[in-house]
Amino acid sequence: MGGATLTKETGPREVFCGLTSIVWLHRRMPDAFFLVVGSRTCAHLIQSAAGVMIFAEPRFGTAILEEKDLAGLADTHDELGRVVTNLLERRPEIRTLFLVGSCPSEVIKIDLARVAEKLNEQLKGNVRVLNYSGSGIETTFTQGEDGALKALVPFMPDNQVDQLLLVGTLANAVEDRLIKLFNRMGINNVASFPPRQSTDLPPVGPRTKVLLTQPYLTETARVLKDRGAEILHAPFPLGVQGSYDWMKAAAKAFNIEQSLFDSVLDPIVLRAEKALKPYKELLTGKKLFLLPESQLEIPLARFLNRECGMQIIEIGTPYLNREMMEAELQLLPENSVLVEGQHVEKQLDRVRQQQPDLVVCGMGLANPLEAEGISTKWSIELVFSPIHGIDQASDLAELFARPLNRKNILSKKLLTHA
Ligand code: SF4
Repeated sequence: MGGATLTKETGPREVFCGLTSIVWLHRRMPDAFFLVVGSRTCAHLIQSAAGVMIFAEPRFGTAILEEKDLAGLADTHDELGRVVTNLLERRPEIRTLFLVGSCPSEVIKIDLARVAEKLNEQLKGNVRVLNYSGSGIETTFTQGEDGALKALVPFMPDNQVDQLLLVGTLANAVEDRLIKLFNRMGINNVASFPPRQSTDLPPVGPRTKVLLTQPYLTETARVLKDRGAEILHAPFPLGVQGSYDWMKAAAKAFNIEQSLFDSVLDPIVLRAEKALKPYKELLTGKKLFLLPESQLEIPLARFLNRECGMQIIEIGTPYLNREMMEAELQLLPENSVLVEGQHVEKQLDRVRQQQPDLVVCGMGLANPLEAEGISTKWSIELVFSPIHGIDQASDLAELFARPLNRKNILSKKLLTHA
């Protein structure tokens, strides 16, 4: 496992639930609708998480269920069917409807798969109804995407031709850029999953090679493997080195000549390293503590240590899939402290003891830590920002330099006013 030591920790957790991923998934697939079957708390969460981008016609909503006993359950199934029918009458442009489960006990009692099955019979293929869980008991916030993608995999058509499949939501501009680079190397059949339209699902088959763009897609990778696809193992495309190695894995799988690969990437690498330099100067030697939330923590720690010179105190991750993380773990510094799971109180004690320069954490923990004088970076910001690929390495570093710069400016102002 590289040079890292792993500890498992259990206890109170402070993470967003899987419902949160609806916020980026509904932007990716504008013909899909996400209907959360949940409580008022779920409705508040999804509204406030998505509140920054109110659309005239939102593509998510919450069917709020009140407490029901088991005897009232049949009514609940019918009630949900009625909500969906009304919604689809009002919104004929919806092509895929995700029923998203949550954690209140009245929701757990509902068989959402059965409700989806009945609706699919009724809708006769005009709209596809799928279900997955975004419950906070089972998922952390990025795992919602894993659940949604896993639900789509059975509907991907079969194919028997060589294909590179990029799996995981990327910003459209970043995705276009990466596909262009692969094309320039001679890898021409490149598809993305999730697609930009939910009905435009890419095919999959035994000659499909999968490059995961995100580290939290364990279940999706598993079902793609069941469809015959090969998962390419590589670091994730964060930073210059991670993105280079990630593209190299595809080039190797498609037998691309090293000289062609170099001719495409060398100028981009040089430019990216130059752009990274000022951030490296600011970040070198700074102490970083990553609390578990997004599962991006290990690739981020690798990037911030190797390419920005940061000193990593602790890397928290909600789950560790060793197989998928193998290439990343090999690149961590010797004696890295890796903690899987969370006991938030104990973790915060360690943060206070170590006094890091920067903590990557959830929004709920950021304010209290800032109040104690510790700079923070919200992990949720990293899933909304275009951070993948060699060209984006300096933007990624800038996200971490920003809170440190802000602190410097504020302390200078305080000194001048003292
Ligand atoms: S799914 Fe659970 S954790 Fe998430 S908002 Fe609803 S009640 Fe809260």
